[in-house]
Amino acid sequence: MAKERKIKCDCGEFLIDKLIKFGDFETEAMVCPKCNFITLTKEQAEKYAKLKQLHQIIDAERRIIRIGNSMGFILPDRLQDFGAKIGKKIKTEALSEKSFKVELVG
Ligand SMILES: [Zn+2]
Repeated sequence: MAKERKIKCDCGEFLIDKLIKFGDFETEAMVCPKCNFITLTKEQAEKYAKLKQLHQIIDAERRIIRIGNSMGFILPDRLQDFGAKIGKKIKTEALSEKSFKVELVG
């Protein structure tokens, strides 16, 4: 978070920084703990827009293909806008017995 600034809700309570489900995914927002009013700061709105764009690019069913003697899958070209490129280091980590995440490193 950039700067700590309290935003007061119309109901009198202060909004708190929270992860909320917004559409199909979670994003950071300012939420009123009393009346559940939700708003986004400029930074949060920018983050949300970027995150939404990333979801549109990456969320899909893909097929495992053979690359030499290994397995691989194709990443969409537009992922380059998010820092993915040939030679880039990634970190893979199991999330459950059927899922794992791919994280761009550095
Ligand atoms: Zn409120």
